[in-house]
Amino acid sequence: MSGTTALIFGTQLYADQPALHGADRVLMVESAARLHSRRWHAQKLIFVLSAMRHYAQQLRERGILVDYRRAPNFETALQAHIAEHQPECIQCVLPHEYAADRIMRRRTEQLAAQGIALRFINDDPAFLCSREVFAAWARGKRQLVLENFYRWQRQRLGYLMDGAQPVGGRWNFDTENRQGAATLPPAPPLPFIAPDALTQSVIEEVRRDFPHAFGAPEPFRYPVTHTQAEAWLERFITERLANFGAWEDAMSADDPFLFHSVLSLLLNVGLLTPRQAADAAQRAFEGGGIPLQSAEGFIRQIIGWREFIYGVYWLYMPAYAQHNYFEHHNPVPDFFWSGETPMRCLAETVRTIQRHAYTHHIPRLMLLVNFGNLAALDPDKLTDWFMSVYIDAYDWVMQPNVRGFLYADGGKMATKPYVASAAYIKKMSRGYCDQCYYDADQRVGERACPFNALYWDFLARHAQKLTKNHRMALILKGLARRDDLLAIQARAEALRRAWSAQSAADFGDDA
Ligand SMILES: Cc1cc2nc3c(=O)[nH]c(=O)nc-3n(C[C@H](O)[C@H](O)[C@H](O)COP(=O)(O)OP(=O)(O)OC[C@H]3O[C@@H](n4cnc5c(N)ncnc54)[C@H](O)[C@@H]3O)c2cc1C
Ligand code: SF4
Repeated sequence: MSGTTALIFGTQLYADQPALHGADRVLMVESAARLHSRRWHAQKLIFVLSAMRHYAQQLRERGILVDYRRAPNFETALQAHIAEHQPECIQCVLPHEYAADRIMRRRTEQLAAQGIALRFINDDPAFLCSREVFAAWARGKRQLVLENFYRWQRQRLGYLMDGAQPVGGRWNFDTENRQGAATLPPAPPLPFIAPDALTQSVIEEVRRDFPHAFGAPEPFRYPVTHTQAEAWLERFITERLANFGAWEDAMSADDPFLFHSVLSLLLNVGLLTPRQAADAAQRAFEGGGIPLQSAEGFIRQIIGWREFIYGVYWLYMPAYAQHNYFEHHNPVPDFFWSGETPMRCLAETVRTIQRHAYTHHIPRLMLLVNFGNLAALDPDKLTDWFMSVYIDAYDWVMQPNVRGFLYADGGKMATKPYVASAAYIKKMSRGYCDQCYYDADQRVGERACPFNALYWDFLARHAQKLTKNHRMALILKGLARRDDLLAIQARAEALRRAWSAQSAADFGDDA
């Protein structure tokens, strides 16, 4: 028995990986069981495999011995590594996902029986607020509020602070940051990183070995190395950050990226760290030319929302993944996979995902989660769908975002369910409602936008639960004034039945 192995997971490809310190070699594993565990988006497979293989190559160029194994499953790879290298210690940063974390912890005894010490490293560059620190912040609070957490993060990390006060005298520019699509200026195109020979070989492999993967393998444009990721961040800061704030809630059928950073996929596998992203925005603001509302809006996403989501996940798992507050059980409709629906906003969103494995936050929230609630989709099934099709999806970020915004957790993450009718979608978007088969201004009738009937029907169906929430009071007053509720409910029921029947017919799903 000799030496220490650094075990490096595919979501922890840090430039400065703590497990490397004091290690004699590295173990990295591509598990066929994991790769074939669901119908992943082709670009997600390409991204993860290419980033891992580039990372291994870079470690070797630094003179580090890398045992890179492609195995039927993780356990087989681990035991083969042990047989060949006989490590006396294996060390790793703990996985970010609950199930993988528990499996690793359970391995401690098993490896001890083989004479191997398993060492977990607490220092994790992927987050600025560890699980433990978040739990300490949350202790004793009846309701976790993002705004409070975010201010606490600003103060302790020192971003955009002037002593104990926020720069500019305000914490929050949300009211300025909700410009609709009517004023949307053209955005510079998102960079395209031409795949190198290694990525090209992965693209061919995914085409061959995953014929049923979701979405298009190409055009594949994303960074797969640290150098590319840093250049990608720099392009965002210089070309798009200035307008990020004002139009962060706007949607356009012509440009899925607009002024968003498209950094989540990189942050979630360690090609960038949140500190790099937030530091870059702070530096750009201090250098002049970036409005405070944009710098603040972006830093809020990175040190606020992203860390809050991770903290909520770890605070409430594993029970969190079981919540279904509204008792919704409908399957995900077939058009979530095919994009074949006359609802233009959803059809375009699915097509964008097919092409880029990405949409920005607002289609995820205002279109998909909103539709999920209104159409009574089962939170488990909707979470599964998100996991498959988005390039940045992992259990830690998916559970609180999907279940939390659905309010399936009964209000642990968000203060009210996210529901909206067509009027708001129309205001915030360009190229959806104006070219749709449906009429965003109608509530009933064959051409009436489904979001409208479904919205009022949702409020009516769940009025009893919703009255407990004071933030819903005004909306529920509107419901009481509706005199066309019966017609609305009949239409909503017919729509939901049609989607469920279609899904059951296509997938043999009898839920
Ligand atoms: C239903 C739903 C599902 C989502 N699923 C994911 C997911 O699987 N993976 C994921 O990383 N994000 C997810 N998000 C959060 C957010 O939508 C994405 O992080 C963001 O759209 C990624 O695009 P971007 O990098 O251009 O983000 P930008 O708009 O440029 O924001 C900057 C960064 O802030 C972080 N961020 C902002 N909001 C959140 C949030 N709510 N949760 C976590 N990070 C946040 C991301 O790292 C993002 O890269 C989800 C949101 C919703 C409503
Ligand atoms: S009219 Fe309704 S379905 Fe059509 S794009 Fe607008 S919100 Fe979507």
